[in-house]
Formats: sequence, C-alpha cells, structure tokens
Amino acid sequence: MSKGKILKVSGPLVVAENMRDANMFDLVRVSEHRLIGEVIEMRGDKASIQVYEETSGIGTGEPVETTGAPLSVELGPGLLGSIFDGIQRPLEEIRNRTGNNLKRGIEIPSLDRNKKWHFVPTLTAGSKVSAGDIIGTVQETDVILHKILVPSELKGAIKELSEGDYTVTDTIGILTDEKGNEIPLTLMHKWPVRKGRPYKKKLSPDIPLITGQRVVDTFFPLAKGGVAAIPGPFGSGKTVTQHQLAKWAKADIVVYIGCGERGNEMTDVLNEFPRLIDENTGKSLMERTVLIANTSDMPVAAREASIYTGITIAEYFRDMGYSVALMADSTSRWAEALREMSGRLEEMPGEEGYPAYLGSRLAQFYERAGRVITLESSGAEGSLSVIGAVSPPGGDISEPVAQATLRIVKVFWGLDSALAYKRHFPAINWLTSYSLYADSLGEWFNENVSEDWTEQRSRLLALLSDEAALEEIVKLVGMDALSANDRLIMETARSIREDFLHQLAFHEIDTYTTLKKQHLMMKLIIEYYDNALEALQKGADIEVLAALPVRENIGRFKYVKETDIDKEFQKVHQILVREVAQSVRKREEL
Ligand code: ADP
Repeated sequence: MSKGKILKVSGPLVVAENMRDANMFDLVRVSEHRLIGEVIEMRGDKASIQVYEETSGIGTGEPVETTGAPLSVELGPGLLGSIFDGIQRPLEEIRNRTGNNLKRGIEIPSLDRNKKWHFVPTLTAGSKVSAGDIIGTVQETDVILHKILVPSELKGAIKELSEGDYTVTDTIGILTDEKGNEIPLTLMHKWPVRKGRPYKKKLSPDIPLITGQRVVDTFFPLAKGGVAAIPGPFGSGKTVTQHQLAKWAKADIVVYIGCGERGNEMTDVLNEFPRLIDENTGKSLMERTVLIANTSDMPVAAREASIYTGITIAEYFRDMGYSVALMADSTSRWAEALREMSGRLEEMPGEEGYPAYLGSRLAQFYERAGRVITLESSGAEGSLSVIGAVSPPGGDISEPVAQATLRIVKVFWGLDSALAYKRHFPAINWLTSYSLYADSLGEWFNENVSEDWTEQRSRLLALLSDEAALEEIVKLVGMDALSANDRLIMETARSIREDFLHQLAFHEIDTYTTLKKQHLMMKLIIEYYDNALEALQKGADIEVLAALPVRENIGRFKYVKETDIDKEFQKVHQILVREVAQSVRKREEL
C-alpha cells in the first residue's frame, strides 16, 4: 500500500503525492478522518482526488490511502425501497447511527449486513452457468422478485446451491470454475460505477414505454430503452410530470436520482416519493423504487458520482430482465459539479466555464440506456429508459448543458411555464416538443392499437400547427377575418388541446389513459372535424357547428370508465352524426 500525503486542499479537490500505487478512479481514504474520495487525475505520482465529504480542517501532510479498487456499488437484495446518497451510503442507517449530521469518514455498508433474505434456487447442482445467469430468486418486496445473478467473469458449474435464509454476504452455494477453483456465491456482488454493465446485444428502440399520459404516448412517445429530456422551469409541473411517469410508465423498477441543489428540494422528494401509491398494485411506489439523494450536507462533488451510482443500480435490474426507468433530476446540477471540479483542476474551460468534455460525459451517461438482450443464457430482454431533467438558469435552453443534452436525447418534452400559467396541464408544449422515436414506434402503434394510429396522430399535430399559424393572423386582423374552414380548424384544435391534451394528474380516471382509449379520443375529434367540414361544404353554419352539444360529450369522454369506452364511443359517434346532419338540414330549410 502506498503512503500518500496531502499536498494541497482546494474545496472538494485534494492533491496527494507519493500515490504511485493508485489508479485512475480508485477509491481512496483521505486524511485522519478517512474521508471518501476518488482519483480523477494521475500525473506521475501525484493524484488529484475528488472528495465526497466536507474537506474543511483537512491539511497538507495528512495521509492518503488507496483502497486499490474503484468506486463501486453493492448490488443485491435490499436496494429496493432504500434511499442512498451519491456514493450509495444508506441515508436512513446513517441517520440512525449519527443523528442528522453526517459524520465524516463514516463506514456503513450500502446493503444491510444483518437482514436475512429467503433465497430459492432456480438451478440445481451440475448446471453450467456463466456471468449474468440467474441462479435463484429472493422475494425482495411484495411486488418485485430479485433475481440473483452470476457475477461478471465467472463461468463454470454449480457445485451446490441451497434454499435458505441468508444475509447478503452469506455463502448460498459454490461454483466450480473452469480451472476447478471453488468459488463461493453470495446474494450480493459489487460493480464499479463508471463502467457500464455488459449485455449481449442492444435492440432497436421500436417498442414504446407506455405511460398513460396522452401527450406523451400519442404525440411524443419514448421508446423502451430510450432517452428523453425534460426542462424544468419552476412551477411548470415538472414534479407532477415526473411523479406521473414514475407511477404509470410501464416500468418494473424506478430509479430516481435527485441532484437538487437546495436541501429542501431533496427533502421534498424524500417525503413525497414514499407517499406515492402505485395504483397498479395498491402498494407504496417505494416497493419498486430506489432513491439516490444528494443531501445538502454533502459537497457538490458527490452529485458527480450520484448519476453513475444510480445508473449502475438501474443496469443491474435491467440485467434481471426488468424494464427500468431512471430519472435524473437535474443533470444541470450534475454538470455544475463537473464544472466546479474542472475549474479546480485548472483545466482549459470551454463554453461558460464547463469543461470541453461536458458533451462526451453526458453522452457516456445516456449511452448506458437501451433495450438489450441480457447476458442470461436464455436471452432475456431488459430495458433501461433514461429521463433527464435539465434546469438551465433562467429557463434558457440555449446554454451549454441543455444544448449538449438536446444533441444526445431523442425525446424532448418541452415544459412551458406559459402553459402552466394558463393551467394547461401537463404543460408540455406541443409545438416545441419532439420525439425522434415517433416514426420507428409508429409501426408498433399501428399494429398493436389501430392501423390508423399514425395517420390520426399526424392529423392532430397538423391541426395544432395550423392553429398556431392562424393565431398569428387572428392577432393581426381578428377572428372575424377567418374563413369558415379556418374557424373549424381553430375549433377542432381547441378540442385537441382541451379534450385530449389536458390531462388531470389528480383525477381518478383521467390520471391514466389506455392506448385504446387514447385512440378513440383522437378518433372522435377527427370525426368531428371531418363531419363538420363536410357539413360546411353543404352550407352549414360554422357558428352552429362550433356550438354542437356533442362537443360536450367529446370533452367528457376522458372521464369515461375504461369498461364503458366502446359503448360510449358508439353513442357519441351517433349523436355526432345526427347533430351534424341536423345542422345541414337546418341550412336547407332556410
Ligand atoms: P414544478 O415541480 O415544476 O415546480 P409542480 O410539478 O409542483 O411544479 O406543479 C405545480 C402545480 O401545477 C401543482 O401543484 C399542480 O397544481 C399543477 N399541476 C402540474 N401538473 C399537473 C397535472 N398533470 N395535472 C394537474 N395539475 C398539475
């Protein structure tokens, strides 16, 4: 072991000499307090260390010791329902032991060492296995079966494996590797956070991650294994949107990384998430959630590590064959941590002081998303979808972090404070948002929901963009100047916005809409438009068409119970046809 010595302390950056034995990204212990740090630069025998704990009072000459291993996370039962800090220390456990003030240098294992889990093998002695194979399961929470995987680089045959109650470090069985070595198996293994976990093959993003949120599923869908960004101007409904996605997205596991800067922002998450109920199971959402929280008493440097900690845990559940959704809130705060360290390392600054490698670091993070064939022999499928919030200062998305993010992600949900102010929720702007998956997912929707899905979607979007153009004209010359056809476009677009896009998160039925219902809702609006347009051509009055009572039925369709949608659709459809026909007849009678 090398005997390193501190040369310099600059906030979270410590430079130590005599560190020949250390490697890049080694976890090190700094000073008498044994603060946790990570080597982020090596020059000769000098190591620059990013320290994840408060460095005040630490001075030159104090010892630095490398652990000889990279910053890693513990993967095994006990992750779900837990709240960890950026380097996977269990917050609750720390609080129990040290009270509210995080004591420096504290060493607490990430996963509880005393808790026993009931392990049920799925393989028997003699089975040939390799890394990523599932050897058995632990019912970790009521809703999630934790699959125990053969750790990486192991290959061989199971010598013994037995059912029983074990802690994460107890031996659950023996694997004989190809050289004949007997290797004990445990419920837990470790993985270095900065290294993506391997898989067999990446699949193309052609299955949607269904969310039940109409503006998302219909207009700007996210693929399973896809990447999305969501900006979060204050009060625009970012929190509610994230909660809705966490609750309803068809993901088995949710990993939420909070890199909020203000302490209370994170406290909100810590208080709110455990209270969210998973309406599919009636249980707490925490039963399938892992929270990573950068609390205010940790230095910003810990934020930098937190997104790697989070995504490694997410990959681990992906490797069990689960669909995982990861949310990082916000990547802007993460980038600021990167900028601070870069500044202290005296690197050449790029745009607005961010390091030149900002873009590539962001890309490396988002690249870990994907729908994959796992290493498991039978070729299971798992996915990791990533939703990153960006919170640029002043909401200006032309700044470097937002721009770098937009170059990487394929979906942008443009939350808009102006819409939120008008109480249009979710306040996702339909003109600025986009999904580059829309085309590749279109086929899926056409095959699995209805063959005219993409056509209807395009028509709705076209009507909305026509509306935006017409609004400009109305601003100049007033509504009266519009032709009857244009008035009808305006009326239909209003229906799209108010009847379709508006979706109340807090309404029992409206909070989630099945794809089938989304399709019927689109269809009703398009039918109104097509029928009314035909009626206009036969001389019907636009005022009459705009005021048809059936529009109220169309508007209320979102509150119809799932079991009644077919019947109700037929009913509204008939009323529509009848009322439009009457509007033409009225005209003919005149
Ligand atoms: P932010 O996190 O962006 O500051 P919030 O998510 O807390 O904003 O949203 C602010 C308020 O907007 C919420 O308290 C809620 O009243 C309203 N809101 C946001 N999204 C929705 C939604 N989908 N349905 C209903 N109300 C919403």
